[in-house]
Amino acid sequence: MTVLIAGGGIGGLTAALSLHAVGIEARVVESVREIRPLGVGINLLPHSVRELIELGLGDELAAIGVATAENVYADRFGNEIYTEPRGIAQGYKWPQYSVHRGRLQTMLFDAVRERLGPDAVRTGVRLTDFTDTGDAVRAELSDRGTGRTETVEASALIGADGIHSVVRAKLHPGEGPLRYSGIRMWRGVTETEPFLTGRSMVIVREGGVEIIAYPISPRHVNWVCLVRMSEPGPLVEEEAGWNRPGRLEDLLPYYRDWNLGYLDVPALLSGSDVLLEYPMADREPLSSWGRGRVTLLGDAAHPMWPVGANGASQSVLDARTLAAELARAADVPAGLAAYEAVRVEATANVVLANRNMNKAAEKARLARRDFGRITDTYRRETGAEVHVLNERASLTPGG
Ligand SMILES: Cc1cc2nc3c(=O)[nH]c(=O)nc-3n(C[C@H](O)[C@H](O)[C@H](O)COP(=O)(O)OP(=O)(O)OC[C@H]3O[C@@H](n4cnc5c(N)ncnc54)[C@H](O)[C@@H]3O)c2cc1C
Repeated sequence: MTVLIAGGGIGGLTAALSLHAVGIEARVVESVREIRPLGVGINLLPHSVRELIELGLGDELAAIGVATAENVYADRFGNEIYTEPRGIAQGYKWPQYSVHRGRLQTMLFDAVRERLGPDAVRTGVRLTDFTDTGDAVRAELSDRGTGRTETVEASALIGADGIHSVVRAKLHPGEGPLRYSGIRMWRGVTETEPFLTGRSMVIVREGGVEIIAYPISPRHVNWVCLVRMSEPGPLVEEEAGWNRPGRLEDLLPYYRDWNLGYLDVPALLSGSDVLLEYPMADREPLSSWGRGRVTLLGDAAHPMWPVGANGASQSVLDARTLAAELARAADVPAGLAAYEAVRVEATANVVLANRNMNKAAEKARLARRDFGRITDTYRRETGAEVHVLNERASLTPGG
């Protein structure tokens, strides 16, 4: 069996490693010509860290990530409203890591090449189309450098090709544009002194304006600013791109007098070398992702608002489940169907929980009990409660 994975992001690369771990051959095609450390900070919640540790990547992850110790909800003067321990301190058996997205992707890329071979990931190659012939999948590939096209055959095709998935568009034609949340995000990373514990995430919100800041190294603080611009609706005026540059002058007016004492917000925003802008968007959850020998994974399957810090984590869980189900299935279509049976509803719950949490947080008064209730509800809705996760069986077959 050879599985072709379209997309070498966090989800696609973890899928390749997971398939390899259960003895299934995997190949990745990635449309960018070179895997460069793009993006800014990202979080891996304990449920995904567990999976990466089981893949033998625990030491590498600990070396590039900061084990987040607490979430501190504060007002814009730095007065603490509510503090919640995170990761191990919260009772999980596994840490939560804050990490540079690009470093995480590069770490996974290196592991794939080391374990599956130097040719396991073909960069600069874009999947453009596919046909499921019943016995195999014929995938159309296009080389971005030479323009050359080719057809390759695989036992299964996994669309891990992100929010603008070609595989999803073919499986679900006529879905229309992404759904805009009405919230604009700006992201950056600033070289600065650590604040609070050096492993604290601080979250400050005043109505429709919010900032989340956390360290991704002893010298770098990642920040995300979220500003409500309108009510949710179709994303019509532009395309969402994770790597689109933003402008400081659009952002600074919202945060002019925000000073937490330990964090001068305008200085933090002004000090970043990179400033990215993204119209926070998702899609209505699907009731099934693929059919036959083709399915979806990660953002292609369930684009979600990044408010629950769950996008990368859910793609890791998809990848692990996919490999486990393919390894124990009688044939490929049965394995993919079993994978979807586990993951479609679980990830739909996360998409909806992210929306619910954001709505509740926007309405919350600045009261301790509000934040406690909101985060408890989120964990319940996404199945991430401490005892549930600690007692859940391993996804590794035989593990
Ligand atoms: C450049 C970039 C920066 C990001 N930055 C952040 C961030 O700062 N914070 C955050 O929370 N999330 C960020 N994300 C999103 C985050 O990585 C995902 O939500 C999460 O990791 C799930 O990953 P994924 O593998 O499903 O999708 P993605 O990470 O989007 O990966 C999809 C991959 O598929 C490739 N691809 C797309 N179409 C094709 C095709 N037709 N053929 C072959 N390959 C294809 C893309 O180049 C990409 O590498 C970023 C994504 C990207 C691509």
